[in-house]
Amino acid sequence: MATIPWLVDVLRAAGVQVVVEGDWLNRMRPGDFNPIGVLWHHTAATSSATNPHPALNVCINGRSDLPGPLCQALVDYHGVFHVISAGRCNHAGTSGGSGPIPAGDGNTLMIGWEIDYNGVSQEMTAAQYNASIAATAAVLKRLGRDASYARGHRETSTTGKIDPSFIDLNVMRADVAAKMSGGTAWSAVVDNTTAGRFTASANWGVSSYSGQRYGGDYRYADPVAASDAAWYKFNVPATANYRVDAWWPANAGYNSATPYVIATTTGNRTVYADQRVNGGQWRSLGTFTLPAGDANRVGVSRWSSGSGLVIADAVRLTRV
Ligand SMILES: [Zn+2]
Repeated sequence: MATIPWLVDVLRAAGVQVVVEGDWLNRMRPGDFNPIGVLWHHTAATSSATNPHPALNVCINGRSDLPGPLCQALVDYHGVFHVISAGRCNHAGTSGGSGPIPAGDGNTLMIGWEIDYNGVSQEMTAAQYNASIAATAAVLKRLGRDASYARGHRETSTTGKIDPSFIDLNVMRADVAAKMSGGTAWSAVVDNTTAGRFTASANWGVSSYSGQRYGGDYRYADPVAASDAAWYKFNVPATANYRVDAWWPANAGYNSATPYVIATTTGNRTVYADQRVNGGQWRSLGTFTLPAGDANRVGVSRWSSGSGLVIADAVRLTRV
């Protein structure tokens, strides 16, 4: 049976924070382990800043109906990887086949990250997302596989698993691919606190209420039938196609149809996002042709037909 004793070193070399959980090199299930990919999960436990890894004990020791370890690593609320096992774990069950991962024994085929969030009323934190991308990219590079070998449990499950919830798995894979390419694809993030690159009127309040925020805070405003957009300025290196991603914290009180305005080579295009859901992650607004130059390229408009606060947090452009 193979093991992956290199896991801790590979994660640390990728800048991922690691906590080694006891005798991880010898804690594993009996049976075959020859991983070719990484499988993403959520634990269904509710984590918080003060209780960052509520499912850690069960992932190490298992449950009455399923012996541990239940994953190679648990990703806590702060994005710290708790490494539990260098060998086979009970995380995947049977794979029905997804992308390049064949049908078969999922626990043989894949390394599992259990991302500790509940997946029903709680979404992945920014720290969990960023650490999961970095760790997945590093491990797939070590395995000699591309980003398509990262899957979500809901894609491989034959028993109707829903995890990881609230995540666009194609965007997550695209982020892994960008990480693996060593940053050759141009990408830039503008947050609401990025100096000189974000402008909004004083009608936009500042909040750090949601733990799903990108960075320290975000801006919010009531919807209004008036032109009072918050703008994100980017220095676009060349006229070309760019994927535009937005990050917002989600809340039932936020806007169901927030207009994102994208200034393309052929005029402004508007895409609507439901900010009640899908928070704490990059969500693709689509791919657009943008002109070269340093200018306001993406705006969040208050002119929404939806009720609830309009949120302006972070925007990312990636050349495709
Ligand atoms: Zn799962």
